Parts: sequence; C-alpha cells; structure tokens
Amino acid sequence: MAETPTRILPAVTPENAHFWQGGQEGELRFLRCTACSSYVHPPAPVCGACLGRELEVSAVSGRARVLTYTVNHQPWLPGFAPPYVVAIVELEEQDGLRLTTNLVNCAPEEVRIGMPVRVCFEIQDDGALPL
Ligand code: ZN
Repeated sequence: MAETPTRILPAVTPENAHFWQGGQEGELRFLRCTACSSYVHPPAPVCGACLGRELEVSAVSGRARVLTYTVNHQPWLPGFAPPYVVAIVELEEQDGLRLTTNLVNCAPEEVRIGMPVRVCFEIQDDGALPL
C-alpha cells in the first residue's frame, strides 16, 4: 500500500485563511474585487486590475484546464512516491487565475495540456490543499 502523501500546508494567516481553509467546506475560494469583479490571487490588499481596495471572498467552480505540467520521476520527498505530476492550471473563471498544484486521480501519462480538471482537497487539521 502506498504511503500517505505528506504535503505541507503553508502557514495560515488572516489574509490567506479563505484560500487554505475553504476546502474544509468543499470550496475553492479567492479574493474578488467588488469594483471590477476580478479575482485576486495570491491574496493581496489591492486589486491588480483596477487598484480597488474592496475585496470579498468568493468561491469558484473549481473547474480548470491544464496550462502546463511536468512529471516528476525522482524521489525528492518522503511520502511522495514518483511518478507524480506538478501542474499549473488556469481556473475557468478568469484568464491568468492560476494555481500550481499536483494532479491526482489520473495517471501521469494521461495528462495533456488543455485537459479539463476539477479541484479536490487534501484535508488536514488546519486547512485543505487544493489538488
Ligand atoms: Zn478590481
């Protein structure tokens, strides 16, 4: 039986808790500008599109496409049995709204650029990692 992956949850702060803890309730959440509706990620105090300062937390669909990826074949970290996929995905809600993540529940040789993917979460004690 495979070892349980040991992904490390980043430090959860008031500024990023919506992102790292939304998955505990099954939601992928980003900051969104109330003035121009742009999503802001990584979390910042100001909208990068219009410099608006009124941001709210908003859940997205969790649907994305693979923008690029690499298949790792080296055993760099204990608990991460190769091969595994590290990818950049772009959320369907906005061009440029991207996450770097692992692709799971899919054989590495089946991954293609442009393929549709959907978020799932690795739940931990203090948050949840979007995969
Ligand atoms: Zn804005």
